[in-house]
Amino acid sequence: MARTTANMNMNDSTRQSDFIRDIVAEDLKTGKWDGRVVTRFPPEPNGYLHIGHAKSICLNFGIAAENAGGICNLRFDDTNPTKEEAEYVESIIEDVRWLGFDWGEHLYYASDYFEQMYDYAVQLIKKGKAYVCDLSADQMREYRGTLTAPGKNSLHRDRPVEENLDLFERMRAGEFPDGSRVLRAKIDMTHPNMNMRDPVMYRILHAAHHRQGNKWCVYPTYDWAHGLEDSIEGVTHSLCSLEFENHRPLYDWFLDALGVHHPQQIEFARLELTRTVMSKRKLVELVEGGYVNGWDDPRLPTLSGLRRRGYTPEAIRDFLKRIGMNKVVSTVDTALLEHCLRKDLNKRSPRVMGVLRPLRVVIDNYPDGQTDELEAINNPEDASAGTRKVPFSKVLYIEREDFMEEPPRKFFRLAPGREVRLRYAYFITCTDVIKDDAGEIVELHCTYDPATRGGDSPDGRKVKATLHWVSAEHSLPAEVRLYDHLLKDEASADAADWKSNLNPDSLEILTGCRVEPSLAAAPAGSRYQFERQGYFCTDPDSSEDKLVFNRTASLRDTWAKIQKQQKK
Ligand code: ATP
Ligand code: MG
Repeated sequence: MARTTANMNMNDSTRQSDFIRDIVAEDLKTGKWDGRVVTRFPPEPNGYLHIGHAKSICLNFGIAAENAGGICNLRFDDTNPTKEEAEYVESIIEDVRWLGFDWGEHLYYASDYFEQMYDYAVQLIKKGKAYVCDLSADQMREYRGTLTAPGKNSLHRDRPVEENLDLFERMRAGEFPDGSRVLRAKIDMTHPNMNMRDPVMYRILHAAHHRQGNKWCVYPTYDWAHGLEDSIEGVTHSLCSLEFENHRPLYDWFLDALGVHHPQQIEFARLELTRTVMSKRKLVELVEGGYVNGWDDPRLPTLSGLRRRGYTPEAIRDFLKRIGMNKVVSTVDTALLEHCLRKDLNKRSPRVMGVLRPLRVVIDNYPDGQTDELEAINNPEDASAGTRKVPFSKVLYIEREDFMEEPPRKFFRLAPGREVRLRYAYFITCTDVIKDDAGEIVELHCTYDPATRGGDSPDGRKVKATLHWVSAEHSLPAEVRLYDHLLKDEASADAADWKSNLNPDSLEILTGCRVEPSLAAAPAGSRYQFERQGYFCTDPDSSEDKLVFNRTASLRDTWAKIQKQQKK
């Protein structure tokens, strides 16, 4: 499969042409489906959804929503009993809803069609188009041939219909052990497409199913089941990812052989993102191996992880709209996803002040015990968000990195003898630096100029920096979790040893942070911009006793720079 790094020079309003929407529009014009548009999102409940799935969700639900009377089914493709769990079903329902989509009454489980699928299989046997085969797994592999060598017929291929019917019924009745027999389609063992070489339709598996319990011990394969599910539901456009392109002839063969409603399968490229892993198999490995803290770890590209991290559904939808639909597997730069996120959060996030690595500052000329309530703007992007009061007092905290005892030429923030502005408050000047026995700076002494209240000097005096701050007495302690990419570099998400490429610094926990008092009792999921620091949201671990925030994204947007480099 071709693989490129997407070179997308898109401004906010453009979107790549979308061949799938073109097909749907054309079908509506020609009346191919009598004006119906029925799509489906068919997750297998064997893991949590990730942002790649969101591409499929937005596509399927989007197309249904854009066309009058369009319907999108949420269908659990739960035909494999061994890996599926009810927990996954619940998480998928929550995630699709969170993304902003609604399936109305169209929630289905493929396992509800088991009986009908079984009947269809009997029909194929009766038509002489399916047979029970007793070859072992090894023999099956050997008989299948290779891409360059044709396969050969199973010795059971010409079993009489009656015998096939009898054996298949007994397979269902549980008379045979796992792996002893399968039901296969009778197509062509010399077909150039390996998928057409008498593919397996049913295998024996004595395993309990999350919805069917022990009712079944034969389970349909994906290829047999998927087209039937689409057909039974009256789907018109069956949109799937590119790896199923080679399976389309089989999809078509089964539905034609049965003579039932036959949706059109259309493939699109899977979404891949730089510096993260997207396959469910790898995500399961990270979660079960304890490399991350569960499916909703904010470092993961799962929808629950992104939600916990502070992503908005709007940002994710905007991102997916911008990358559009394509037929070449392309790895999209995570910087574009973050760009969409920042654009959205910039509009909606209330600004607050939080100090991540506090340095104590004593304002020597400020009266003991006095508190001043200063007015701060909640969101410069949104006047209706209003203002709030922030308490100022004699002892404050500023960011440790905003002070340098011996500043280099380009450092304009606080230094001995230098004057800076405290946001919404006063100009202060550093007069003294206190160190502990180890030589570490533990406290600054400053003076403030009462005439600069609000942050402006009446005499027109200029300062080169504005710092954020909190009042020591009034601020609240907080833990802040900083996240970085899951992988160290882009190279080896595909390599066998991809886990050796995990970024050891993907999580940094800061425990001594201080935030302004307006953040008390912020419910989990509340989003803020910590001025000068980035976008943050309250973690579900947060409590009244211990506030916990996740950094959703820093303020620095690298997308424009990457685009400029790509243009060169
Ligand atoms: P994975 O490879 O991550 O395990 P999957 O294809 O097995 O994914 P399903 O639950 O079968 O997971 O996927 C449901 C739907 O989502 C399918 O139609 C599939 O094509 C689509 N999908 C899965 N991953 C992506 C992706 N990265 N980009 C776009 N669509 C995807
Ligand atoms: Mg799948």
